[in-house]
Amino acid sequence: MTVSVVLFTSDLRVHDHPPLTAAVAAGDFVVPLFVRDGAIAASGFAAPNREAFLRDCLAGLDAGLRERGGRLVVRSGDVVDVVRGIAARARADEVHVAAGVSGYAQARERRLGRALEADGRRLRVHDAVITAVAPGAVTPSGGSDHFAVFTPYFKRWSAEGARRPLRAPRAVRVPEDVPSGRIPRRDAVRGVAEGLAAGGERAGRARMLAWRRDGIADYAARHDDLPGDATSRLSPHLHFGTLSPAELVHLAQERGGPGADAFVRQLCWRDFHHQVLAARPETSVADYRARHDRWRAGASADADIRAWQEGRTGYPVVDAAMRQLRHEGWLHNRGRLLAASFLTKTLYVDWRVGARHFLEHLVDGDIADNQLNWQWVAGTGTDTRPNRVLNPVLQGRRYDPDGVYVRRWVPELAGLEGGRVHEPWKLGAAERGRYDYPEPIVDLGEGLARFKRARGRE
Ligand SMILES: Cc1cc2nc3c(=O)[nH]c(=O)nc-3n(C[C@H](O)[C@H](O)[C@H](O)COP(=O)(O)OP(=O)(O)OC[C@H]3O[C@@H](n4cnc5c(N)ncnc54)[C@H](O)[C@@H]3O)c2cc1C
Repeated sequence: MTVSVVLFTSDLRVHDHPPLTAAVAAGDFVVPLFVRDGAIAASGFAAPNREAFLRDCLAGLDAGLRERGGRLVVRSGDVVDVVRGIAARARADEVHVAAGVSGYAQARERRLGRALEADGRRLRVHDAVITAVAPGAVTPSGGSDHFAVFTPYFKRWSAEGARRPLRAPRAVRVPEDVPSGRIPRRDAVRGVAEGLAAGGERAGRARMLAWRRDGIADYAARHDDLPGDATSRLSPHLHFGTLSPAELVHLAQERGGPGADAFVRQLCWRDFHHQVLAARPETSVADYRARHDRWRAGASADADIRAWQEGRTGYPVVDAAMRQLRHEGWLHNRGRLLAASFLTKTLYVDWRVGARHFLEHLVDGDIADNQLNWQWVAGTGTDTRPNRVLNPVLQGRRYDPDGVYVRRWVPELAGLEGGRVHEPWKLGAAERGRYDYPEPIVDLGEGLARFKRARGRE
């Protein structure tokens, strides 16, 4: 009798799942295992929105396995100890896992590999499960282990192509004598955002199909339309792996057209950041390219940070974005860009402060995508124009010309019509008095001058 363990991590699905497919093909029985890892809980990474979404995903994965005659085994503890114990109990020959990119995931793989080998078992690590193309599968000529610039990466990534998606297995047989803990319930999590989306593979696949049918064709034209909210919102499903990036690339390419092309390019951005983090795991906290910043600190910076976090900077489009983040645990990419530029450049506050706040709220909060996008905006990452500064008024006028997005999230300004909502300080005193909304916490010109001085670009 052959038994394999599949350790699920950021790949909580049964469709297009190379480790599960390989384990089913290898023999008679499979133990599909998820470990509620004590180290992740202790690190504070399991913020309420992601914890709630994760619980949906675990319930969904269990349901998907049950439809195939199996079930999910959920355990808590140190991931290596648990896997070792389960593999021994089930007398498994192999453990299958998806390759991870973070420093933590890479260390987990090494520890697991060594521990299993000592027990006479084998760890099989599968590439291109959490990314469409494996980090390291395409590298620049000249010997570097990763691409530091997106455009050449995109060229090579497109030429490489995503692997063909796999069908979900028809049947999964799980040995009876491997007990599972209970799958924790979503509604027991406290502090969850009111507007948080539902997780799980079924919800992810429904959204993917609706996106192909109704959304993707207009993506190129509308992805920056803040009030239109016309992006896929698939990011939480990609983060938890309830959708496969390779399957999404194929689905979009089969659909074809400018919208699908633009969407595939964004999926490539995701892979791009993953291959940077895989090669430079320290960039989750350290500057990818140091600019020798001496970020503001102290009481005045703290007051600005609080105003930014609470959405009361006095810049309506920034405040709208920060309030959407709190309400939904998700934010439109344009909102992320302008909120991050405002913090790091206009207020000249360390990108790590902003990245931490985003990770406390984002349901798709992801070490590769969050930390490296923050660095991109702060100019310490891979942006080839590290000193560009987004002006929140111009951004608001361009991406929310009629002010619909601002009025949706900043109800104090709901009575102000049209694009005037982006500059309430320009109203006459009598009209201004009617709106209980703060004055700008910084003058944009002064913020820009401070940033230029700091970067030696006066
Ligand atoms: C400061 C900042 C922080 C961010 N933090 C995260 C994060 O923690 N997790 C996360 O998934 N994305 C993050 N992003 C990237 C991007 O904003 C989100 O992926 C996107 O807004 C999710 O919405 P969507 O699924 O509708 O995206 P769509 O526009 O529909 O794009 C499809 C998919 O492409 C990928 N993608 C799109 N843009 C990017 C990008 N710039 N970088 C990497 N992947 C991208 C995502 O997986 C996304 O789901 C961040 C961006 C910025 C500027």
